Amino acid sequence: MREEEARAWADLVATARRTVSDGLVVGTSGNVSVRVGDLVLVTPSGVPYDRLTADDITGVTLDGRQVLGTLVPTSELPMHLAVHRHTDARAVVHTHAVHATAVSTLVDELPTIHYMTAALGGPVRVAPYATYGTQELAENMLRALAGRSGCLLRNHGTVTYGATLDQAYDRTAQLEWMCRLWLTASSVPGLTPTLLTGEQLAEVAERLRGYGQPPRG
Ligand code: 13P
Ligand code: ZN
Repeated sequence: MREEEARAWADLVATARRTVSDGLVVGTSGNVSVRVGDLVLVTPSGVPYDRLTADDITGVTLDGRQVLGTLVPTSELPMHLAVHRHTDARAVVHTHAVHATAVSTLVDELPTIHYMTAALGGPVRVAPYATYGTQELAENMLRALAGRSGCLLRNHGTVTYGATLDQAYDRTAQLEWMCRLWLTASSVPGLTPTLLTGEQLAEVAERLRGYGQPPRG
C-alpha cells in the first residue's frame, strides 16, 4: 500500500466516523469514497466504522474491479462509481440524514429556503426511488445531480460530492441543515415560508466565489 493511499484511507475512515458521531447516519448506514489517482477507496459494506483499521483498506478501479483489500465494498458502489466517472468529484458522501430523508418523501426539489442552495449548484433535486445498491438508483441519482454537487434520494437519503472529503462532508451537513430549516419553517400552521428567486441565487453563486480567506501566496 502506498503512503498516499494509507493517508486517504485514514481520512476516509475519519469522515465515515463523523457521519455517525454527527447523527447523519445510524449504525453502518451510509458510505464514503475518495479518489487516489485512478483508484477509488470505499467503505466496506456493513462494517461499523469504529472497527475499521489501516489493514481494512478497500479499493476498486473506476470500473468496479477490487484491487485492494478483502472486505466486500459498499453495496452502493454503482452510485459512487457513477459520480467518479461522470463528474470531477474526488470524494463522495452518502448518508441517511433524517431531515433530508424526510424532505425526500415530500417534494421533488428542496424549496429554495436559504442562499446556501447556491453552494450546491442550485435547487437540490430528489432522485426517483429505486432499490438500494442498484444500477437504477445510480442512474436516477446521476440525473438528479446534473449541474449540482448534491441531491436527495427519495425515501433513502443524501448524496454529495466535492474536491475533498471535507468539502463533500460539509455539503452533506449544509444540505441536511437546509432540509431541517425548510421543515421547520413550513411546519408553522397558516404561514408559508418565502423562497429565493433564481436571480437571488445567481447573485449568491457569484459572491460565494470570493467567500472566506484569500488563497495564501
Ligand atoms: P453499505 O453498508 O453496503 O455501504 O450500505 C449502506 C447504505 O446506506 C446502502 O444504501
Ligand atoms: Zn443508503
